[in-house]
Amino acid sequence: MTQHDESFLADWQIQGTFGAVAGTHGVDREAATEADGEQRRWFAELLESHGFTVQRDAIGNQFGLLELVPGAPYVLTGSHLDSQPTAGRFDGAYGVMASAYACFRVAEELRADPASARFNLAIVNWFNEEGSRFKPSMMGSGVFTGKLALQEALATEDRDGVTVAEALAALGERGDFAGLEVASYAEIHVQQGRSMEQDGVTIGLVDATWAAHKFEFKITGEQAHSGSTLMSDRRDALLGLRDSSSPCASSSTNLKRECCTRPVERSTSTPTLPWWLPAR
Ligand SMILES: [Zn+2]
Repeated sequence: MTQHDESFLADWQIQGTFGAVAGTHGVDREAATEADGEQRRWFAELLESHGFTVQRDAIGNQFGLLELVPGAPYVLTGSHLDSQPTAGRFDGAYGVMASAYACFRVAEELRADPASARFNLAIVNWFNEEGSRFKPSMMGSGVFTGKLALQEALATEDRDGVTVAEALAALGERGDFAGLEVASYAEIHVQQGRSMEQDGVTIGLVDATWAAHKFEFKITGEQAHSGSTLMSDRRDALLGLRDSSSPCASSSTNLKRECCTRPVERSTSTPTLPWWLPAR
């Protein structure tokens, strides 16, 4: 192992401690929580210790910049350090850490041979890729690429009514970095399924990605007594949910079955009494 490899593994161990869930190998590092903030501060120090300048933009994307060729565009690489509330340690974190170490190594080579540098280097930690605390997901990269309006993203509230702007400001993670000219972008990501393992490959190149559409439905039935209402008279809202939420129902039959998934993220019913059929 090289010195870089050993340093990477040591830092990899440290990054998994932020938001670590006791008794598991997982982490709880939702966007702009204290655990996310702690990790961001640690990551900024890591970047600075390798000579990179740390900047944050208005939606909290964190950039590590190294200017080798004044005025030239940047080769940008990175992923996200935030996680779902009960998630694994790898996910986006590997992409960020691998990007950082790749850039540290390239930076070392280019500093030794400055004439060969054509572009500058940038590492990014996108804000709120997961979307579990603040919807939608891919918020930081969405604003950066102009797919999502900054003000709309900043006004988004979590379940307790805390806005993105407030949560980022509390951590000191809102900046005024205006962005950078991107020459190219690369992101490495750990696959969270088994298809690559089944295919016997260790590295896959992404040539397509899933399109996520998120909907909120209200199913209206009729509140009724579960003892006295005949089965033929029932309009049970929960049965309606069951019938409409099976994966790959009729609306998606033109897609290959394995290309389409339809999870139900959250459902509530009312009334929730033991002898009543729910109305909604
Ligand atoms: Zn991810």
